[in-house]
Amino acid sequence: MSPLFVPGPVDVAPEVLAAQARPMLPHRSREFEEIFQRAADNARLVFQTESPVFLATHSGSGMQETAMRNLVQERVLCLVNGAFSERWLEVGLANGKRAERLDVLWGEAHTPDQLADALRGQSYEALAIVHNETSTGVENPLFELIQAARQVSPDTLILVDAVSSLGGVDIPMQRWEIDFLFTSSQKCLALPPGLALASASPRAMQKASSVENRGWYFDLLRMERHRQKDSTAMTPAMSLIYALDVQLERILSEGLENRFARHAALAQRVQEWGAQRGMPPRVAQERRSKTVTVLENSQGWEIGALNRFLMQRGMRIANGYGVWKDKTLRIANMGETQMADVELLLAALDEYLN
Ligand SMILES: *Cc1c(COP(=O)(O)O)cnc(C)c1O
Repeated sequence: MSPLFVPGPVDVAPEVLAAQARPMLPHRSREFEEIFQRAADNARLVFQTESPVFLATHSGSGMQETAMRNLVQERVLCLVNGAFSERWLEVGLANGKRAERLDVLWGEAHTPDQLADALRGQSYEALAIVHNETSTGVENPLFELIQAARQVSPDTLILVDAVSSLGGVDIPMQRWEIDFLFTSSQKCLALPPGLALASASPRAMQKASSVENRGWYFDLLRMERHRQKDSTAMTPAMSLIYALDVQLERILSEGLENRFARHAALAQRVQEWGAQRGMPPRVAQERRSKTVTVLENSQGWEIGALNRFLMQRGMRIANGYGVWKDKTLRIANMGETQMADVELLLAALDEYLN
């Protein structure tokens, strides 16, 4: 395997890749429905909820569209502190919603007090948050933000993009009372891209039943009817469902707690290496992501040249994102990455440094 230290798509285990090569079945067959339902059931363990998990054929961003179409009739507040939280806002506006923004600077996180102030005296139907901002390497203090929102505005639904953290970082959906939580296949779940997974709370499903113009492909009520009856309303990406079924078994046999600890330890190792080499993490210690580390590019490295060097050793990392493109480097540790992989990368970076 040639480790990809980029924030998705990440490396996929050979047996998971191989699962995709299984022969097709009629998608309305009992054999396929059993596989689909087993995968959807096991996914609930990863989402830490008793609510259903929907498996959908599109990338994670499609679930932002699903959330905006089904859970917001009119007004939503988006917490913006990077490129993916900005997307929440764009998707809301593109779907004709009155999406409003609450900004903090890139590299920072909103505080519960800021959020409480923004919600006070307002009537937002939903609050859209990114758990792990992949563009800046910030892990937002999700549970504190949810608690603040619940206190000031208990009826506001909590919508969470956890694309770059679910399966790698502890996000107990039900205990934290998250209303809509989604991820993509190609990040911490370590599957090929093309599949999105989401779960909706009972009160989110109830809200959806009162929202107009939910569309067809992204209609949560249609998804729920089919989930109960067979699989999905349309033809699902069957090869990816085969792969998901195998990968969920692997994730659950590693154990969620072990998986979370592994991700945290890898990120911490990269952070420490950066600090020791004069390339410190961009983000304050208590807000640092456990799945992607954003380091100051203080050597002024040109990422193309760096990656040509790394690729001779079968590895690659990512450049900074957006306005931070050349100023930072991003080193991800999502999915199946092990400490030995990270040590190999850091040794290669040391070699490059000298
Ligand atoms: C990668 C990413 C997305 C986009 O996911 P797609 O599967 O490419 O649609 C959204 N949010 C976050 C936080 C991400 O890291």
